[in-house]
Amino acid sequence: MIYDKRKVVIVGAGMVGMSYAYALLNQGVCNELVLIDLNKKRAEGEAQDLNHGAAFSPSGIKVTAGDYGDCSDADIVVICAGVAQKPGESRLNLLQRNTEVFRQVVTSTVNSGFNGIFIVATNPVDIMTRVAYDLSGFPAHRVIGTGTTLDTARLRYLLGNYFDVDPRNVHAYVMGEHGDSEFVPWSQAMVATKHVYDIFRDNSDSFNIYDIEKIADEVSNAAYSIIEAKGATYYGIGMAIVRITKAIFNDESSVLTISTKLNGEYGIKDTFLGVPTFINRGGVKRILRLDLTPEEKQKLMNSAHTLDESYNMLSVDLDRSKKMALK
Ligand code: ADP
Repeated sequence: MIYDKRKVVIVGAGMVGMSYAYALLNQGVCNELVLIDLNKKRAEGEAQDLNHGAAFSPSGIKVTAGDYGDCSDADIVVICAGVAQKPGESRLNLLQRNTEVFRQVVTSTVNSGFNGIFIVATNPVDIMTRVAYDLSGFPAHRVIGTGTTLDTARLRYLLGNYFDVDPRNVHAYVMGEHGDSEFVPWSQAMVATKHVYDIFRDNSDSFNIYDIEKIADEVSNAAYSIIEAKGATYYGIGMAIVRITKAIFNDESSVLTISTKLNGEYGIKDTFLGVPTFINRGGVKRILRLDLTPEEKQKLMNSAHTLDESYNMLSVDLDRSKKMALK
């Protein structure tokens, strides 16, 4: 019998980490799950609680609270660890503090001998993914950020509602920063294989083209409105991470708008940001190059500039080329 080990380690057993863990368990995606948190007691309690649901899970899975040694033979390490923004704290200061968290988390994971794929969910996710890439010395195809996967899912849901169509038949993306500079390239949006612009043209009695801006605004304001209502968002992102995990384990070559390092695509180099990307067992297979309009390309560039500005203010303080030489 071939034992198909699928081992995931979650670092950061908070709301996002545990929503991901719960969705993993319910979808039977892996058979070993380890939880690591600064608060070891919490990780132990979470592992116990999840194990008690094992009898109701679609497949066998062993959940434990562990430490970085458990990463050595893991296939995927998902980083959800981070610190909360203090009242009045600047975004840059928060970034700096989360970079210190990553310095500890990524270094300890790599030192364990981990040779798999990082998935980063900690916000601001595009910058934290780039920091994880820097600190790990891993090739870019093995460092994936959640990017705009959730924003894209929100867009497909809202468009599906608007047109009264199954969101799975809506093909449209949110691209760029997972944040204020993200945008929808409408030139690429379709329902089944019919372009949304053609749907508006052929159904002007039912739909109004001006509504698309309202839908795009609703997508980019979704996190703010959820946070205002319940304090935090975690279920949607947890399910988005499961989707990425499945694409990896099942070697799917699925297209997901994860955060990845651009290498000249769309005229952008080195920035990590959300673009439609093929994901398979090795991580990032390649970036899908869309025929964006000049305005859309400009929006993507603006998003990259915004991210570069924040990243360049960070003192990540490492010499990636030296790390690579050690590999
Ligand atoms: P979120 O809503 O983003 O999940 P939480 O505050 O609920 O945020 O969870 C963040 C988790 O990350 C907490 O459980 C916290 O203990 C953990 N954490 C913070 N720093 C570290 C670290 N250096 N190593 C491991 N876990 C950490």
